[in-house]
Amino acid sequence: MGNNLFQFLMTSRGVKNLLSRAYSLIQRFGLGPGKMESSLTCWAKIAHKYNIRATFPVTAIIVKRYPRVIKRLQAQGIEFALHGFTHIDYSVLSLAEQITHFNKAIKVFNFYGIDFDGFRAPYTRWNHWTMEAIQELKIKWESSKTMLWDIFFTPLNVQSKGIKAYEKAVALYNSVDVRTHPVLPDLSYGEVQPQFVEIPLCLPDDEMLVDRLKLPLAKIKEIWEYILAQSYERGELFTLQLHPERLPLCKSVIEQVIRKAQSYYPKVWIASLNEIAEWWNEKAQFRAEVKDLGRGSTSNSEYKIIFNCSARATILCKNIECPSLQAEKRFNLKWNNSYQWVKPGTNEVIVKANIPPVIVKDTVDKTDESTPTIWFWRWPNGARSCLSITGDVDSLTLVDFLLRIVGK
Ligand SMILES: [Zn+2]
Repeated sequence: MGNNLFQFLMTSRGVKNLLSRAYSLIQRFGLGPGKMESSLTCWAKIAHKYNIRATFPVTAIIVKRYPRVIKRLQAQGIEFALHGFTHIDYSVLSLAEQITHFNKAIKVFNFYGIDFDGFRAPYTRWNHWTMEAIQELKIKWESSKTMLWDIFFTPLNVQSKGIKAYEKAVALYNSVDVRTHPVLPDLSYGEVQPQFVEIPLCLPDDEMLVDRLKLPLAKIKEIWEYILAQSYERGELFTLQLHPERLPLCKSVIEQVIRKAQSYYPKVWIASLNEIAEWWNEKAQFRAEVKDLGRGSTSNSEYKIIFNCSARATILCKNIECPSLQAEKRFNLKWNNSYQWVKPGTNEVIVKANIPPVIVKDTVDKTDESTPTIWFWRWPNGARSCLSITGDVDSLTLVDFLLRIVGK
């Protein structure tokens, strides 16, 4: 197992590259956990300042080595998640082996009272047995599937060595291209209950931008703000990965990205992975009933819509008339040219349309331009898109980092 990981690291990073990183590693991790603890404490302060939560997947071996540190951080409001027992490549393990590992990890978390709802695979490396194990162990979400954003929209001015290192990572992560797939959570894995929520992780992460491409902070800010803007346009999710050891370096950038996200209207929902999974399950229960009132003309009949959803549901509609809500100015917010936003907390409403409105529960509205439609939108409380900040905690000290290389 150690061997396989060693090979993985050699192919992904190269011996020279590993050695050249030694210096920056010594700067990032101390001999004791103090440096990393203060990075995570710094995150807790940022989260408090902007009233947001982030998610930090951590290996169980780290919890076991530093239970008091992890407990203290949890008490400061840091949200942790499972990240394997040790930091190994789970994509080469069988179902039974993975279940054994994850059970061992869960035991450690439970023993030390560290809360978790979800899982992210080390190196984001997984196989179909990983997903089976997640389902079997009733873990609520997983966030190991990666999606790649294009960063070459802007001149990067990087040496070919950097581009090569970047491309190596791209090849290894085996990401899905965002140009062909929406970046959204998914609840459709398997047919059996309970299902878990799959939350994709967006690439490039901080390691690719800082260590491989060696981009200046201004470029990193430009790239993250570009992805934020694109995901906002698309009404999707931007799951950002910033490892806590690079937080001191990237602190000003991440704060600017958060401030940018908080400046949008309709807003960007900044949420932790626990919060996203909870919302996705909640949204899956939403229903609406359409009753034909048998009134009005044939081209403009009246329908009563009864909503069965939580107060934070975002209900959009198109091609329907809603005189009572319009009169109360509840209907005046437009998403784009075709959708309007029903006031939150509306339980029922009488509308006019030429045919009974179609209720859409999917993440994509596939009705045509002219169909009267009511759509339970993807994000809560009128948010148009979602930003989630995550950071895998792989090592707290230099010794952890070295042990990790041999799979310990
Ligand atoms: Zn990791």
